[in-house]
Amino acid sequence: MPKGLAVEGGGTKTIAVVFHGVEILGVGMAGSSNLVEVGRDRAERALREAIGEALSEASTSMEEVQESAFALAGVGDSPGFTREVVELVKSIREGAVIMNDGEAAVRLAHLFEDGGAVVAGTGSVGYIQRGGSMRRLGGWGWFFGDEGSASYIGKRAITMATRALDGLLESRLPGELERFYGMEIRDIIEMFTRRPDKSRIASFAKVVDRLAKEGDPTAVQIMNETVEYISAVLERMKREVTRVAGVGGVFNSAYVKERLKWLRTYRGYQAVVGCVVSLRVGLKEEDRDNLLTQLEKFMS
Ligand code: BGC
Repeated sequence: MPKGLAVEGGGTKTIAVVFHGVEILGVGMAGSSNLVEVGRDRAERALREAIGEALSEASTSMEEVQESAFALAGVGDSPGFTREVVELVKSIREGAVIMNDGEAAVRLAHLFEDGGAVVAGTGSVGYIQRGGSMRRLGGWGWFFGDEGSASYIGKRAITMATRALDGLLESRLPGELERFYGMEIRDIIEMFTRRPDKSRIASFAKVVDRLAKEGDPTAVQIMNETVEYISAVLERMKREVTRVAGVGGVFNSAYVKERLKWLRTYRGYQAVVGCVVSLRVGLKEEDRDNLLTQLEKFMS
């Protein structure tokens, strides 16, 4: 059985797994490796850090790894961004299979069967796997896209807070934002306008979720928009495939869970198992579930 390396990188976390057959030998973690958002240098550092940690935990080296796959946010966003990510991955590991993190999400949820998956983590994307080919929905990047994601929730919250400050609506958002970031709204806006830190903007989404549960009308509106967008993508997918799934932190929101009770969901980091699956066409559902159980042990 060859040893393999699987790396999954979203807008907040990078996770690397070294495996042998269906056994996980080591797991490593680092910050965002989305080159589109953090730039090439930081993305490279995160990838090398997560991979180095996984290899050392597995007491092995890159030379002993025979097969590898990288599922990274940014791949497929545009030809230019994709080229840059591919070059970066090649400089780390020649010959690796490279895909978008949404493709790993589909493999996690449906192996090689037809199905769709919506990723709603720091960013968002959708993929439909049908008849052996993959098609993408959304994934238009942080500036124009990312609807349904945690960063979008955070961004909307800041916009709505400015409306509240202008007296256009009632909301507890301004005070909650100032408490959360430890600065005034104008300083928060300056900070993110100078450098749009998507992961930090996304971290406010859990506060919006709580405020929605507490009945803040503006937070409710933002969470409703989130569910509406995700539902629209799922409905579009269901015109082509019968099985759909949700992957990522937004699906941990009690507000979203309550409204999408029927949906099978996975945590964002679990998509790394989909990345392993993509290297091993023969993996069955019980092998996937066994890998997920092992991953949880490493994460705890
Ligand atoms: C990125 C996609 C990515 C998605 C989910 C978006 O912001 O543009 O490439 O797949 O987030 O991580």
